[in-house]
Amino acid sequence: MEEQLTRILTSCRSHFEEIVAIRRDLHMHPEIGFDVPQTAAIAAAALEELGIRTKTGIGKTGVVGDLEVGGAAKRIALRADMDALPMQEIGPKAYKSKIDGKAHMCGHDVHTAILIGAARVIRELKSALAANIRFIFQPNEESSPPGAAAMIADGVLEGVDEIYGLHVWPLLEAGQYGICPDIALARSDCFEVEIKGQGGHGAEPHLAIDPVLIGCQFVTMLQSIVARNVDPREKAVVSVTQIQGGTAFNIIPDRVRIRGTVRTMSAPILQTIQGRLETMLAGITAAHGATYRLAYEEVAPATYNHKQCVDTVLAVAAQLVGPDNVVFPYPPDLGSEDFAYYSHKVPAGYIQLGCGNQARGIVQMCHHPGFDVDEDCIFHGMALFAALALGV
Ligand SMILES: [Zn+2]
Ligand SMILES: [Zn+2]
Repeated sequence: MEEQLTRILTSCRSHFEEIVAIRRDLHMHPEIGFDVPQTAAIAAAALEELGIRTKTGIGKTGVVGDLEVGGAAKRIALRADMDALPMQEIGPKAYKSKIDGKAHMCGHDVHTAILIGAARVIRELKSALAANIRFIFQPNEESSPPGAAAMIADGVLEGVDEIYGLHVWPLLEAGQYGICPDIALARSDCFEVEIKGQGGHGAEPHLAIDPVLIGCQFVTMLQSIVARNVDPREKAVVSVTQIQGGTAFNIIPDRVRIRGTVRTMSAPILQTIQGRLETMLAGITAAHGATYRLAYEEVAPATYNHKQCVDTVLAVAAQLVGPDNVVFPYPPDLGSEDFAYYSHKVPAGYIQLGCGNQARGIVQMCHHPGFDVDEDCIFHGMALFAALALGV
């Protein structure tokens, strides 16, 4: 099969420059959420150009392509997310975002370009293909309701036997792949608390019930959950990320709103955290004579890697970059991903694609305003997707 590997790498090399150009174009024109018309049009045109049967408007604005071969034993899906983030890019890149307040700081421009590149390589080597391949370009990975769930509702997993996705990963160098043995990414939850006290004059706090003070105590108490209630050998996060309340410096407001996120890897720890959060909230508000409202919801389940897919990725990745550059078992991350929804429906493999380059200072994590990738990772992403589709 060495010939097959050589053919894949040669084809990836021949398409590399044009795919880098597509990535830079996407990077300069970021789109957000489900509102990704130009990005989806680029993906759809790229598939149609290859003669791949293409559908648009799946999961509101997603694009799906089917490449089919006679007598295929199974169908493999490859997925890229397309959406950018509502944030400002900083730094000197020549291909910086041209749109104020929007930027591809999670690298989904790279994912989209990689899947377009993989489609070109797979189409070129179609005669060696033993499986049907479904190309999935998904909107709205970054916010709720998740684009993955919308695409599943529109039938994107029908007839799919395995699905693979990847994410650029600055903590690994370009030329490395990371793969987690079972859970790849945490379950993500969102909580929203409203603490209702009694408003009053800032100079007469004894006549008020100050929700700002109660809110601050609650935020501090929350930090003891992971520190003192969760087994130190386990992984969990409780973060408060938004606090809102008050209208002026001299008015004690009647309520504050606090929002945050909980990240967990197992059901017992999730239950511990949920229980402690509500107990603390009930206790602290009762102690001060205030009341509360708590809304708690799951944003995304944990992303699960199935053994059969992990084994396939390990074998393929070792062929591509050598076993020393395949980091396994890669530690699961407390970030989350709506790829999780696919992984709960069909056997799935989610790969951390090294995109860092310490020597060139490319080290910033996703969602940092100066995030970037070593574009060599595009080659390795294309090669991995193509090799998973074609086998090596
Ligand atoms: Zn992100
Ligand atoms: Zn992302």
